[in-house]
Amino acid sequence: MTDKIQRDTLQKFMFDAAPVRGELVEISETWQQVLARRDYPMAVKTVLGEMLAAAALLSANLKFDGVIVMQIHGDGPVRLLVVECDSDLTLRATAKVRDGESIHDGTPLPQLVNLHGQGRFVITLDPKDKMPGQQPYQGIVPLDGDTVAIVIENYMLRSEQLDTKLWLAADNHVSRGLLLQKLPQEGGIVAPTMHAEPNEAADAWDRAVALGSTLGTQELLNTDINTLLHRLFWEETIRVFEPRHPHFHCGCNRDKVGGMLKMLGQKEIDEALADLELLEINCDFCGQYYAFDKVDCAQLFATEEPVETLQAPSPLMH
Ligand SMILES: [Zn+2]
Repeated sequence: MTDKIQRDTLQKFMFDAAPVRGELVEISETWQQVLARRDYPMAVKTVLGEMLAAAALLSANLKFDGVIVMQIHGDGPVRLLVVECDSDLTLRATAKVRDGESIHDGTPLPQLVNLHGQGRFVITLDPKDKMPGQQPYQGIVPLDGDTVAIVIENYMLRSEQLDTKLWLAADNHVSRGLLLQKLPQEGGIVAPTMHAEPNEAADAWDRAVALGSTLGTQELLNTDINTLLHRLFWEETIRVFEPRHPHFHCGCNRDKVGGMLKMLGQKEIDEALADLELLEINCDFCGQYYAFDKVDCAQLFATEEPVETLQAPSPLMH
């Protein structure tokens, strides 16, 4: 455990002589912001923290401009885990444990969220600049894996056709992760010398994965990413890119909460208001408190959006 809190950092790197790229991330300040808002059992912290590191690694890896939402819908003591990461590495995260469940330290992922084989892992890619009518891309995969890392590796192989290896760890202080990825051989991404030697490229990937696999959970938790990079790959020539800095931010606001209430429908809201003076909502991600009284709710349903008659027809609606 390190007492010194370093700025949250994501470091991309590339093997000079092999079609392999990597990323290391360490998230401490952001993780503390998540943990300060809710008290989770340790086993839930581990999974949520690992998802936090994974979301940052994937967001930087997929070069996708928008929000990546990573969700685990559990059928066990944990009902939901959500991590969101924007292209600028803005993160927020939350988890929901079923009422009355006591969760022992070290409970493995399948027992937390896939007790009856009904757990699902969902990745949503929501682009920043959507075309009219464009829906976010959503990939749903079964929770086939004992760890968050394995579940995501399977997802990456299926949906992105990319060989990806992940090492993730989280405790009360830090969430760290390593990602290695085999670059595709086509498309001119790889240096010309590598095209001729596919076996060499495969060997280089195997060697990189073997080096990554020497990394134990405790070492990952207790070692800063610069030290890890040198310790793991000191025999390789590595190109290191400009570091980036993940940070916590919740984009919730009163308008969005109002929109959510509106989506529930007037009937549902009226019923709720029959019993309560005030609808009180705390943001699951940041804890921000919102209250809507009868007048506020009436206004929600009074201000209907104008019909979009002037908008050009969506190209996706043909
Ligand atoms: Zn919020």
